[in-house]
Amino acid sequence: MWRSESSFPLGSSHSAEGDENTRRTEDAMKQRLSERDDQTMSRRTFLGGSLAFAGTMGMAALGGCQPVGARAQRDAAELGGTNGSGASEGGSPLSFFEPPRGTVAFEADQVPENSIAKTEEVDLVVCGAGLAGVVLSLAASERGLKTVLLEKTAGMNVRGSGIGSLSCSVVKEAGIVFDERAYLDDALKAALYRCDAEIWRTWVERNGEAVDWLIEATKDAITPYLNLPDSGAAVDTFGGVNTYNDTIEAKEGMVAWAQAALDKAIENGTSVRYSTPAVQLVREQDRGVTGVVAKSMEDGSYLRLTASKGVALCTGGYENNLEMLRENMRPEDLNVVAWRLPNTENTGDGQLMGEAIGGVLEPRPHIMMRDPGGSAAAHSSMTFLSCRWPRVNKLGKRFVNECISHNDLANAFMRQPGGRDWIILAGPTLKEAMEGTTYKDHTPGARKQTAEQIIEQAKDVIVQADTLEELAQATGIDPENLQETCRRITELHANGEDVDFGTDPGMLMSFESGPYYAAEEGASNLVTVSGLVVTSDSEVVDGDGRAIPGLYALGNCSGGMFNDSYPHELSAISHSRCVVFSYLLARHLAEA
Ligand SMILES: Cc1cc2nc3c(=O)[nH]c(=O)nc-3n(C[C@H](O)[C@H](O)[C@H](O)COP(=O)(O)OP(=O)(O)OC[C@H]3O[C@@H](n4cnc5c(N)ncnc54)[C@H](O)[C@@H]3O)c2cc1C
Repeated sequence: MWRSESSFPLGSSHSAEGDENTRRTEDAMKQRLSERDDQTMSRRTFLGGSLAFAGTMGMAALGGCQPVGARAQRDAAELGGTNGSGASEGGSPLSFFEPPRGTVAFEADQVPENSIAKTEEVDLVVCGAGLAGVVLSLAASERGLKTVLLEKTAGMNVRGSGIGSLSCSVVKEAGIVFDERAYLDDALKAALYRCDAEIWRTWVERNGEAVDWLIEATKDAITPYLNLPDSGAAVDTFGGVNTYNDTIEAKEGMVAWAQAALDKAIENGTSVRYSTPAVQLVREQDRGVTGVVAKSMEDGSYLRLTASKGVALCTGGYENNLEMLRENMRPEDLNVVAWRLPNTENTGDGQLMGEAIGGVLEPRPHIMMRDPGGSAAAHSSMTFLSCRWPRVNKLGKRFVNECISHNDLANAFMRQPGGRDWIILAGPTLKEAMEGTTYKDHTPGARKQTAEQIIEQAKDVIVQADTLEELAQATGIDPENLQETCRRITELHANGEDVDFGTDPGMLMSFESGPYYAAEEGASNLVTVSGLVVTSDSEVVDGDGRAIPGLYALGNCSGGMFNDSYPHELSAISHSRCVVFSYLLARHLAEA
């Protein structure tokens, strides 16, 4: 039973290259909106050649820029994606830039016995070849478990940059000792204590051992390093929030790291079945979950896998399931300008399969991993927009310590009028303006690129003007407040301290002379990180908190760690929970 029409054919846009997937999805979104946005954007002066027209048209001719909130609502209406209220929440007009929709594979009606073409007996069935599923398959097969890895799409789906670890060998070799007690307290506070402290404690105690195991298992293919800021600080504290710079990256990239793990899992005997989604769990009255039914997308046949050790749901979040997003998310959290979303088939199948046999989803609202740095004009994420230069809202007022963590910054500007803000800089050239600041300390992605590369990516959305009046006119920012805010930032810069908001003074600059630059920023969503309620052993529990024998959930299909917003200050914790709990589960199952 397919529950919704797929706008992207199953498996068609997947490859092993996560970044490539992201690019394609963003390209498709840009395509849908480019004509309309060109009309709005062509009234401004942009750095990029394609949209720049300062030479042919005077700045005086500028003006009449559409208010950003109006455009957000227009986009939502044209995409048919408003949440229906049309009202505002916390001052932000609610709009909904939709993610690509997938096809739900979960089947609620029991697949009849005579439809099952084949039954296989294995130890462990892993559903989903994202990072959690790949690492679990490696860890289980390494310990001798006969493992089948089912994947809905045509390939593995991994992305991003690194894996958080407080105490693996790479951290120790760098001479860094993180305060684990402080980290645990910060994690619990970030979740407002609406989380499972035992899961967090387990992560804190076991992350070093788990990440070291992964490094050892993939050592022939990857070179790990700790991605520290130029300042060398292991922990940055802004606005009272500690950001832990504990991301372990592979020089070869995250996709290569996961591919190395998958190759090893296959070498160990894991059988990988692509284009074969799990569609329902097999539950026996007294024994719990004893297997799973999967469906071949090639010929439509059903396969039953009985699993002596259990079934692990590693099917990710439900980013591609609009109904589930609407049902479980805080509406404000969907008010974004872009989705950084390579997956097109994360439709919450694992959550639905788990619920169907008595598992429970954690309480609403569910949590979205979200970034600042989305371009309202281009509907994609840009490194330039993620950098922590001064920001103003459309009233021309500063409103936040820009150096706080990713999610907090996005939360802050989403509560501004229209849910967006403008980044402002000044300097003889944009490159000089950027390089006069400590921007690389605050945006890990910026460390890997030159200023020229960062500008090149964003040139079509950066507005340039010779005077602040012209900048205000071109952007629609309140001109008087903008003048006053820039005067104040210049003063704070000269004094070497941001007594107003507490940002890194190295990110401030003088606005005494131009040219001036601005770019409009909105939020971009990545993945959902709330799921089935599990124990610290990854067992799925029922409504009474009792573990359902034989059923496990990991990664974004599982819950218990996040609340309110995803804590980017606990760097790369999402990948790390995939690695740590997969490693622990495999050991537990092998010993059981
Ligand atoms: C652009 C981007 C960058 C990121 N960077 C980082 C980073 O640097 N560090 C970090 O910690 N986090 C990062 N994240 C978040 C992180 O990638 C995810 O939260 C994490 O990888 C989730 O892993 P997962 O295995 O739980 O799910 P996923 O990676 O989503 O994998 C789930 C898999 O299950 C498959 N599947 C779905 N349904 C079925 C079914 N019925 N049967 C079989 N298979 C199914 C899917 O096709 C998919 O392959 C990033 C996210 C994005 C979008």
